[in-house]
Amino acid sequence: MSDNSYISSCVTRDGSARLIFADTTSVMRYRSSLEPMSDTAMAVMGRTLTAASIMGSMGKTSEEKLTLQIRGDGPAGNITAVSDSYGNVRACMDDPTVDLPARQGGKIDVGGAVGSGSLIVMKDLGLKEPYTAVCELVSGEIAEDVTSYYARSEQTPTVCALGVRIEPDMSVSVCAGFMLQLLPFYDEGIIDLIEKNLKDIPSVTDMVFSGMDDTAVFDTILKDIPYDPLERHDIEYRCNCSRERYHTALMSLGEDEIRSLAEAGEPIETVCSFCRKKYVFETDGKTILD
Ligand SMILES: [Zn+2]
Repeated sequence: MSDNSYISSCVTRDGSARLIFADTTSVMRYRSSLEPMSDTAMAVMGRTLTAASIMGSMGKTSEEKLTLQIRGDGPAGNITAVSDSYGNVRACMDDPTVDLPARQGGKIDVGGAVGSGSLIVMKDLGLKEPYTAVCELVSGEIAEDVTSYYARSEQTPTVCALGVRIEPDMSVSVCAGFMLQLLPFYDEGIIDLIEKNLKDIPSVTDMVFSGMDDTAVFDTILKDIPYDPLERHDIEYRCNCSRERYHTALMSLGEDEIRSLAEAGEPIETVCSFCRKKYVFETDGKTILD
């Protein structure tokens, strides 16, 4: 576990596959300090946020934004994570207190909390219409759902692993993940090696908990495969909300609703579901003041 969250990538020397690893421990630790959360919710959100960070960092332009939404029928409700093209991320969920009994072996029941439903990926490329893809959740465990999204929506063979470790005192000791993607014209021989390596490796949670960094993780997954590191940089929890944005949103409610809110004479309180920042707007009986 690094003090700072970071994202790091590499590519096999023959160009068959790229591998991206993210240690998002400090990001999830910060997120869990914003509001009371159960361990189940932290595991659900940590996995989603890590996946979004990795997927966002794969964007083609620096302005690109990626939203990953898990809409299941389980008690967690909807989970949303938004990443910029560097992997800076924010997340929220309907019920951060959702708490399910652990499954056999002490594993947090992420799939049970999420339920069945759909995974939605939205990419805002700065064009008029964002790119949106919807596919069915496979297990609600997030990693398998992301893998299936890449296979079905982007026809890209992908291996995704995500993990969150919560200690008995409810602190986040690990939040991390990796994604391995085959590139066009990959070499079958390399795939066999990667598959063999993946069978033998510990979970990403255990790797990070034991003190492994990006290089150690790459060396393990790409054992006996030459690779070149690409980029490594720190990432953080980042919300882009502002008073102005919330005022604009309130003012877009429509005349009748604005008037009835203003006539009540009470200040209007809004709370950002991503960063829990509170914005209070006074009214003058006719409209909402900025
Ligand atoms: Zn915010």
